[in-house]
Amino acid sequence: MNCKICKKNAEFFLKTTIMKKYDVSYFLCKNCGFIQTEEPYWLKEAYNDPINTSDTGIFTRNILCSKITSNIIYFLFNKKDVFLDYAGGYGIFTRIMRDIGFDFYWNDPYCQNIFAKGFEDKLENKKYALATCFEAFEHFEKPLEQIESIFKKTENILFSTELLPRKISSEKIQSWRYLGREHGQHICFYSKKSLQYLSEIFGYKLYSNGYYFHLLTKRDLNPFIFKFLCLSPNYYFFRILSALRVKSKTRPDSLLISKK
Ligand SMILES: [Zn+2]
Repeated sequence: MNCKICKKNAEFFLKTTIMKKYDVSYFLCKNCGFIQTEEPYWLKEAYNDPINTSDTGIFTRNILCSKITSNIIYFLFNKKDVFLDYAGGYGIFTRIMRDIGFDFYWNDPYCQNIFAKGFEDKLENKKYALATCFEAFEHFEKPLEQIESIFKKTENILFSTELLPRKISSEKIQSWRYLGREHGQHICFYSKKSLQYLSEIFGYKLYSNGYYFHLLTKRDLNPFIFKFLCLSPNYYFFRILSALRVKSKTRPDSLLISKK
């Protein structure tokens, strides 16, 4: 089996049971450290409910991501620009970002927009200043194709995926929470090196906090500043917000939707 990132040979690494019934093999690429499952024939069933019911962290994670993203936009981008939440699920993140005051839009081919209705992806020929893509890279069946489709909409992708532990063994990975054995939706697992490969394939630079948040961009940034902006979001966020003076869109959005 070829690695879905660097195309070198990926070797059998472990077999484990997912969704309490499917014995699935995982393959490790020794070149870039990426791990992928065998052909994921179980996905249709795994997505009967597009947001898996065991994802109890959905609100906490969206709040955390909104704080980190606010920091990053405020310091590294133009806060008056237009942004996209790609694979935005129910629209929770888009709604929170609009409540804070950023002009965010929603896009998700697989999930129903519940909370950000009226703010669907609208740019046809223009690019977004930044696309966020949280908890999606590990779901991609064809990562290169899917990432390429995000790059059609933006030149900056801020995304999350939990990196593989540095030293991996099949025993250790068996108990790794991020394998998502209960829901079966996680089929791609990235090492830092595999993300580096990804960035080079597309001609972008990679910045990472070394664990969960990553940015693909053509811009030259100080990697420590990116790491810093991903730290202690509560403290920075509330300090910054007072200086930010971005005007919340909660009320204007309500008026706009009421008029439609
Ligand atoms: Zn590889």
